[in-house]
Amino acid sequence: MDRVRLAIVGSGPAGLTAAIYASRANLRPLVLSGVPSGGQLMLTSEVENYPGFPEGIQGPELMDRFRAQAAKFGTRFRDTNVTEMDFSRRPFTLRLGEEGTVRAASVILATGATARWLGLPSEERLRGRGVSACATCDGFFFKGLEIALVGGGDSALEEALFLTKFSPRVTVLHRGESLRASRILQDRARANPALSFRFHTVVTEVLGTDRVEGVRLRHGPDGEESTLPVRGLFVAIGHDPATDLVRGQLDLDAHGYALTRPGSTATNVEGVFAAGDVHDHRYRQAVTAAGLGCMAALDAERFLAEHPDPGESATPGPG
Ligand code: NAP
Repeated sequence: MDRVRLAIVGSGPAGLTAAIYASRANLRPLVLSGVPSGGQLMLTSEVENYPGFPEGIQGPELMDRFRAQAAKFGTRFRDTNVTEMDFSRRPFTLRLGEEGTVRAASVILATGATARWLGLPSEERLRGRGVSACATCDGFFFKGLEIALVGGGDSALEEALFLTKFSPRVTVLHRGESLRASRILQDRARANPALSFRFHTVVTEVLGTDRVEGVRLRHGPDGEESTLPVRGLFVAIGHDPATDLVRGQLDLDAHGYALTRPGSTATNVEGVFAAGDVHDHRYRQAVTAAGLGCMAALDAERFLAEHPDPGESATPGPG
């Protein structure tokens, strides 16, 4: 059993920034990294918009640096998955399957969210080589190139509109007959001459060997096939926040994102804070997740000062 003042669940930019701040505040945090560790940036190649890296940096290297910085100030890590969280009383209980239990006087939930993918082998093979789930991150790489984008919700149209800053032609491929996106975004999208739509259309294969060269499409009820030559495929069919383990304990919104008090990272459970994409479905950037992680550490520090747990040990346990 490990007894800690602060457990941080998740090791993306939110969790590791929280760890940097919390360890510098002498809270001796324990990061339960999850397997694989590092979050969504581990699946990203070049990151060009993280401040401080004008020449760009590979996503995994950026996360290695976050981790090294947290370790430097005394953060401990357990590279394992949390299998159960019990927030019914303090100290909170986090079970690690066969690998024991952690009791924590406070918890920062930074478990992130995962982008939904179409589930095609060719999509997985070409991820980072023209297939992306983040227009803000990768749109810039498609200057002057034609792009296809899958989805019919608000995210899809926002991303498609953003991509028209770079691409002369963005084709939105939607499986349904009408868009789910809000009217205002639909109007804006339809007024944009660089955007076109294909309805009742699904992507059956991403074409290309080591970079995207096109997509194979199936249309309508009769399953007619065609190919569309594009150099990029953006998938914008939603995200799933990793909140399964806290469902029924933390207040979540209709899409499963952790709710926090306005202007704070505090959840409805005193001593439990939420940061990063597990809470934020709007901005979803490494730098905003890092900012929320910083806020969560400051909130936890204040909470622990005001609510000391008499049983908590300042000495870290094994791990
Ligand atoms: P969403 O509203 O759930 O839309 C997902 C879209 O992807 C739907 O059009 C869906 O098609 C399609 N889709 C899902 N699985 C698919 C698959 N396997 N193959 C092909 N298409 C698939 O998700 P979202 O757009 O990410 O939005 C999530 C929430 O955030 C929504 O409440 C949204 O309003 C909100 N949001 C708001 C804004 C804004 O207000 N500016 C911006 C972004 C997001 P069907 O329509 O056929 O189901």
